[in-house]
Amino acid sequence: MADTEVSMDTQNELNDLRMSDGAVPLYEHVKSFIKDVVNPMSEEFHRLGEGKTDIWSYAPGQLEALEKAKDEAKKQGLWNFFLPDAETGEGLKNLDYAYIAAELGKNPLASESMNCSAPDTGNMEVLERVGTPEQKERWLKPLLEGKIRSAFAMTEPALPSSDAKNVSMSAVLEGDEWVINGEKFYISGAGDPRCKIMITMVKTSPDAAPNKQQSQILVPLPHPGVTILGPMHVFGDPDAPHGHMHIRFENVRVPKENMLLGEGRGFEISQL
Ligand SMILES: Cc1cc2nc3c(=O)[nH]c(=O)nc-3n(C[C@H](O)[C@H](O)[C@H](O)COP(=O)(O)OP(=O)(O)OC[C@H]3O[C@@H](n4cnc5c(N)ncnc54)[C@H](O)[C@@H]3O)c2cc1C
Repeated sequence: MADTEVSMDTQNELNDLRMSDGAVPLYEHVKSFIKDVVNPMSEEFHRLGEGKTDIWSYAPGQLEALEKAKDEAKKQGLWNFFLPDAETGEGLKNLDYAYIAAELGKNPLASESMNCSAPDTGNMEVLERVGTPEQKERWLKPLLEGKIRSAFAMTEPALPSSDAKNVSMSAVLEGDEWVINGEKFYISGAGDPRCKIMITMVKTSPDAAPNKQQSQILVPLPHPGVTILGPMHVFGDPDAPHGHMHIRFENVRVPKENMLLGEGRGFEISQL
């Protein structure tokens, strides 16, 4: 058989989209947890939020109800399923996680109750794979514990941002600090008062090869140079208090140690 040919057995394995037998108990546990804990908590959460005047905040009792469900999920071992190979995760294959994610998607508070919500999941994966011990201690640890939320800022107004090579927001090294200027929009989760860290895609090296011009830098929030201009609306909904925010960066200074992986390696991180 030529090297490029795939054996019948491997092909059958690749075509087999059934959940593995080992993942079934966890899947059933997640479903019953949503029914018994998350659904009643959601009802209370929404009732407590009725009539709230500031949509970008939480009403008294809302976060407490959510935290109670999170504590219960932790106690039952239903926590951080998404990290595929890390010690911190459940070690699930993507296929098995897909079945669980489909259940989590049925209640808007289910993912957060089990610390599996975007954009934290992707951000935790990035920090887990490329973060320094100090970055992990400061940001990954509280994210894995569900103590803070995060955002990922890549998309920019007026340029096709689906290609990371286009990202143009400037970051310049001045002494020991990166100085960031520009705008991002559609930044999910940046409206949440619990959002404390934003992984920000910037252009640091305009003269390098096209896939080596961008970097990803950690911007702690709130930050004096970071202004939330307002929410983007999705089908007319600002999705408060999570939000998909339009953000201005004005001379945002962060220590040079906030660089992830290295200057010019932002595109590479996105391919991991
Ligand atoms: C609800 C919501 C939440 C979001 N959250 C975030 C977030 O948290 N962080 C963040 O950074 N962004 C976020 N976004 C933005 C989203 O990721 C971008 O909209 C997406 O990456 C596409 O980029 P764009 O809008 O610039 O479209 P474009 O890149 O302009 O693409 C538009 C269309 O053109 C096509 N296209 C682009 N370039 C080419 C080409 N060279 N040749 C042929 N076709 C091409 C694309 O495939 C697409 O169909 C969010 C968006 C929404 C709606």
